[in-house]
Amino acid sequence: VTNEASDAQVESVRTIHEGRIFRFTIERVKLPSGHVVEMELVHHPGSVVLLPQPAPGQIVLIRQYRHAIKRWIWEVPAGTLKPGEEPTAAAARECEEEIGLVPTTITYLSTLYPTPGFCDETMAFYRCTDLRPPSPDSVVAPDEDEDIEPKTFSVDEARAMVQRGEIVDMKTAVGLQMLGFQIDD
Ligand SMILES: [Mg+2]
Repeated sequence: VTNEASDAQVESVRTIHEGRIFRFTIERVKLPSGHVVEMELVHHPGSVVLLPQPAPGQIVLIRQYRHAIKRWIWEVPAGTLKPGEEPTAAAARECEEEIGLVPTTITYLSTLYPTPGFCDETMAFYRCTDLRPPSPDSVVAPDEDEDIEPKTFSVDEARAMVQRGEIVDMKTAVGLQMLGFQIDD
């Protein structure tokens, strides 16, 4: 993500809540247009999104319950960075936690802002290949708030699920498109 110089002026920042993962603020800002607005913002540590491919043309999706939308949905695996965690390490950890396989090769694809209107989260996308079972002494365990069912699909079928409205998660729709990008590795 390339940052361009901001000419907005922050007049005041109030922290409303310091959560387990997010920080919520209300910021009074003079925008580049000259308008002064109060913005409700969410500050996020950043996340990684994984595109695990057991074989070329395949993708592992997970089905999980998302209480914010009160639905079970299909998604690619993803997770929030832990404090100080390096994104590639987070990608390997989340892959093992969520689909039970360790990626031997992790290829960085791109970084995007999913919701720049109110949140500074960056999502770094990685293709995960050469997947193997974890070693018996691995200490990685699924998060207790995650009830996850992984399943392998063909990339074509997953893209068709997006078109049919059966996949409604944006990072998943975007990630499936990224698999078509030219990658220099
Ligand atoms: Mg997750």
